[in-house]
Amino acid sequence: MERPDIIRKTAQDLTVPPNLANYDAVHASFSWHEAERELAGLPGGGRNIAYEAVERHAQGAQRDKTAFRFIGAQQTRDMTYRELSAHSNRFANVLKDLGVGKGERLFILLGRVPALYVSALGGFKNGSVVSPLFSAFGPEPLLTRLKLGEAKVLVTTELQYRRKLEKVRDQLPNLKHVLIVAEEGKPAPSIPGTLDFNALMEQESDEFELVPTQAEDMALLHFTSGTTGTPKGAVHVHGAVVTHWATGKYALDLHPDDVYWCTADPGWVTGTSYGIIAPLLHGVTSIIDELDFDAERWYRILQEEQVSVWYTAPTAIRMLMKAGSEIAKKYAFPKLRFVASVGEPLNPEAVWWGREALGLPIHDNWWQTETGGIMIANTPAFDIKPGSMGRPLPGVEAFIVKKDEQGNVSVIDQPEVEGELALRAGWPSMMRGYLHNDEKYRKCFAGELYLTGDLAKRDQDGYYWFVGRSDDVIKSAGHLIGPFEVESALMEHPAVAEAGVIGKPDPTVGEVVKAFVSLKAGFEPSEELRLELLGHARKRLGAAVAPKEIDIVASLPRTRSGKIMRRLLKARELGLPEGDLSMLEGGA
Ligand code: ATP
Ligand code: MG
Repeated sequence: MERPDIIRKTAQDLTVPPNLANYDAVHASFSWHEAERELAGLPGGGRNIAYEAVERHAQGAQRDKTAFRFIGAQQTRDMTYRELSAHSNRFANVLKDLGVGKGERLFILLGRVPALYVSALGGFKNGSVVSPLFSAFGPEPLLTRLKLGEAKVLVTTELQYRRKLEKVRDQLPNLKHVLIVAEEGKPAPSIPGTLDFNALMEQESDEFELVPTQAEDMALLHFTSGTTGTPKGAVHVHGAVVTHWATGKYALDLHPDDVYWCTADPGWVTGTSYGIIAPLLHGVTSIIDELDFDAERWYRILQEEQVSVWYTAPTAIRMLMKAGSEIAKKYAFPKLRFVASVGEPLNPEAVWWGREALGLPIHDNWWQTETGGIMIANTPAFDIKPGSMGRPLPGVEAFIVKKDEQGNVSVIDQPEVEGELALRAGWPSMMRGYLHNDEKYRKCFAGELYLTGDLAKRDQDGYYWFVGRSDDVIKSAGHLIGPFEVESALMEHPAVAEAGVIGKPDPTVGEVVKAFVSLKAGFEPSEELRLELLGHARKRLGAAVAPKEIDIVASLPRTRSGKIMRRLLKARELGLPEGDLSMLEGGA
C-alpha cells in the first residue's frame, strides 16, 4: 500500500459528521466558559463529575441505555445508566455512614470489575477524593501511595489485602476502613479489621443527595507513570469535567450511538478520564474488558461488540503488530470508524499498520497526567501526518519555548524549531498541584505558561511533532537527537516489533546512540540481522544520527501504563542505580 507523507481525509472517511468539522473557526471562537454551560451543574449550584457523567442521563431519556458492558472470563454483564446511578448512590451512602467526609481519600485497588466503577462514581458523589490504583502493584508501591495520599478508605479484594496489605496495615494510621469485594459467586470472607463491601451495599438506599461540591474541590488523585522517575501525585478537581466533556466531543468524536472501548486501566489517568468519565458524559456505551491483553480476544471484542470508537495506546498496538497481521485478517470491523492512541509517540509504522490491519489509520493524541485531558490531537476530520501528534484542541494554546541560562522562558515563533512544549495555563483539567511537592509543582510554570517537560516542534501547518522527553534527548557530536526519530526508523524494518533508544556516554562525541530492539513473531536474533538493522538505520538516518550499537532483546522494560522505560535501559547499560521501579511492569 502506498505511504504518502500525509493521509488526506475525504467525505468517505467520515461515516458520521465529525464534531470538529471546522477546526480553525472552532479553535478561534472556543471558550471554556461557554463549554461549561453545556453541562448541567448541580441543581443547587456547584459542580460534580458524577452528576454530569451519570445523573443527567439516569434521570433522562438515556436511563435504560447500557453505560458499561463488562466482558469477563465467564460472562458479560451490562449496567444501564439508571443502575449505575443506583449502585453509585448506594456506595455514596456507604461512605457517608462510615463517616467519610468531603475531601477525604478513597483508594480503589481492584481489577476492571463493576465495583471499581461504582466505587469511583460513588466517591465523587460523596465529595471524596478518588484514587484508583493498578491491581498489579506490589506491597511497596501500594504502601507509598496510600501513605502519600493519606488513604482513609480502601476498596479491594481478599487476595489483594492478604497478600499485600495485611502485614503493613499498622503503617497506615489514616486508613480507617478496608472494604472487601467478595469474589464472584463466593461468600464474603471474614477478615478481622475489614468490612464486607456487598453486605454494606445491600443495606443502603438507591437514593443519595449529592454532597455539594464546587468546581475547585479536589476530586481525583492520579499518580504519573513513573517513566522518568518517582511517580508524582497529580491533584485534579471536579471542574476538570468540562475538559473531559469537550475532549470527548472533539478529540474522540463521541456521538450518542457509539460503542466505545478505551483499553486503559483506571490505574492510569487515561483509564479514568477516558475509561470512565468522558464516555459517560456523552451517554455512550462503553466496553470494559476485565481481562489482560490477548491479541485474538481483542480483535474478537472489536468485531463482536461492533466497537465504533477505539482508544488505545502505542504499547498495545505494538503488541498487536508483534502478534502478526494474520490474526487481524480473520476478523472484520465494519462498524469501527475512529481509532486513537495516547501515551507514547506513535511511530508512523503503527499509523500505517492501523490502516492495513483495521482498515483505518490510527490517530495519535498527546496529553499528560498533569493536563488531565487530551490537549493535542488528530481528530477524524484532520488529514494525518504520520508521526505527528496533531494540533491543539479548541481551548488549548500550545507553544514551543526555550529557556536561557538564567532560566528565562521565551516563546519561539518560527516553525520547525525544536524546543520545550508549553501550554497556556488555565484549562479546567489542569492539575492543581503535586501532592506534598509544591516546589516541583511551581517549577512547572513560567508566568502564564505550563511547561510540559517534553520536546517538540511545530510545522508550517500548525501540526506538532514529538521529539522526546527533555531527559531522553541525546547529545552526540554537536547534534541533538530525539530517540523517537531513531526508534521510528528502526520500526520500519519488518523484523522489529519495538525499539528503545538511549544516549551512552562517550569520551569523543559526548554520547553515542544505542538501540535496544525486540523482534516480531517469526524472527530470530542473529548477528546477521543485527548488522542488517545497523545498515538499515544508517541508510534511513545518516551516520550522525543512526545507532552505533544495537542489542536485540526479548522485550523492553515498560511501565504499567505500557511506556518504554529508557531511563532503566540506560541505568542497566551503564551499571547505575535503577531508581524508582514501582511502576515497572512485572516488577516490585
Ligand atoms: P513520569 O511523569 O512519572 O515520568 P509519564 O510522564 O510517562 O511519567 P504520564 O503522565 O502517563 O506519565 O505520561 C505523559 C507523558 O507521556 C508525556 O509527557 C509524553 O512524554 C508522553 N506522551 C503521551 N502521549 C504522547 C504522544 N502522543 N506522543 C509522544 N509522547 C506522548
Ligand atoms: Mg511526566
